[in-house]
Amino acid sequence: MLKRISPAVFIGHLPDLKGISVTENEVTLGAGVTYSEFEPVIEEHFPQALDYWRRIAGWQVRNAGTIGGNIANGSPIGETPPLLIALGAEVVLQNTAGMRTVALEDFFIEYGKQDRQPGEFVAAIRIPRTGADRIAAYKVSKRQHSDITATAAAFRVVTDGQVISDARIAFGGMAGTPKRAERAEAALRGKPFSRESFEAAAEAVGEDFQPLSDWRATADYRRLVAANLIRRFWLEQTGEAHRLSRAQ
Ligand SMILES: Cc1cc2nc3c(=O)[nH]c(=O)nc-3n(C[C@H](O)[C@H](O)[C@H](O)COP(=O)(O)OP(=O)(O)OC[C@H]3O[C@@H](n4cnc5c(N)ncnc54)[C@H](O)[C@@H]3O)c2cc1C
Repeated sequence: MLKRISPAVFIGHLPDLKGISVTENEVTLGAGVTYSEFEPVIEEHFPQALDYWRRIAGWQVRNAGTIGGNIANGSPIGETPPLLIALGAEVVLQNTAGMRTVALEDFFIEYGKQDRQPGEFVAAIRIPRTGADRIAAYKVSKRQHSDITATAAAFRVVTDGQVISDARIAFGGMAGTPKRAERAEAALRGKPFSRESFEAAAEAVGEDFQPLSDWRATADYRRLVAANLIRRFWLEQTGEAHRLSRAQ
C-alpha cells in the first residue's frame, strides 16, 4: 500500500519564504525561492557556479523546485548543498518557539536524518559574500540535463599571495549526506597554491569518503572522479586546462 502523506501543505505561495536580499556581506534567500528565481543572483554574485546551477534538473523542475525543498529533502545527491556548503552557507530554521541558525554542513547528520526539531521548517538560507575567492562547482552525471548527480563537487579556495589560506571543498554523492572533504581541505590549507598541493589533496580525498556503488556509478568511479575534480579545479584556476585543450 502507498504511504499516506496527508496532511499535505502547499507552501509555494508564501511571500515570507520568497524574499531575496543582497547586502555587502551576504545573500539571504527564503526557502521557497526556486532555482530559476535564484539564477540571476548566482549569475551576478557567484558567476563561477552558473553553469553548475543551470545543470540542475531541467527548466520545468528549476521553475518549480525550491532551494529550501532541495535542502530539507536531505538527499546525498541534491545539488544545491555541495555548492552552498562550499560557500559557507547557513540555514535558518524556524518553529513556533523561534528561529535558530546552523551551518548547512551541520544540518545533514546522516542519511535520512537532518538537524530539525519538531515543527521546525527551513525558513531561509544565508550565503556569505566572499569577494575574490576562487570558486567552482562541477556535476558529473550520465546525461547533461534532467539527470541527477553521480558525484558533484564545489570549491571555495582563498589565497593570500601564493599561499592557500582557506579551502572549503564539499561533495555530493560520496557519502550518506552532502559532506566536506576534510582531509583534502587540510592538504591545501597553509600550503602553496601549486600543482603539488592539489595533487596531495587529490590523494587525500580517497581517505575522506567510502562511497557506495549504485546504478549511477560504482564506488571506484566516484573515488576517481572526486580526485580528478580536484585536479580539474587546479587546471582551470591556473588556465592550464585552457592551454591543454587548445594544444590538442
Ligand atoms: C525530473 C526531476 C529531475 C530532478 N533533477 C535534479 C537535479 O538534477 N538536481 C537536484 O538537486 N535535484 C533534482 N531533482 C529534485 C528536485 O530538485 C527537488 O525535488 C526539489 O528541489 C525539491 O524542491 P520542492 O520545492 O519541489 O520540494 P518538495 O518536493 O515539495 O519537498 C521536498 C521535501 O522537503 C520538505 N520541504 C520542502 N520545503 C521545506 C521547507 N521550507 N522546510 C522544511 N521542509 C521542507 C517536503 O516536506 C519534502 O519532504 C529532480 C526532480 C525531478 C522530478
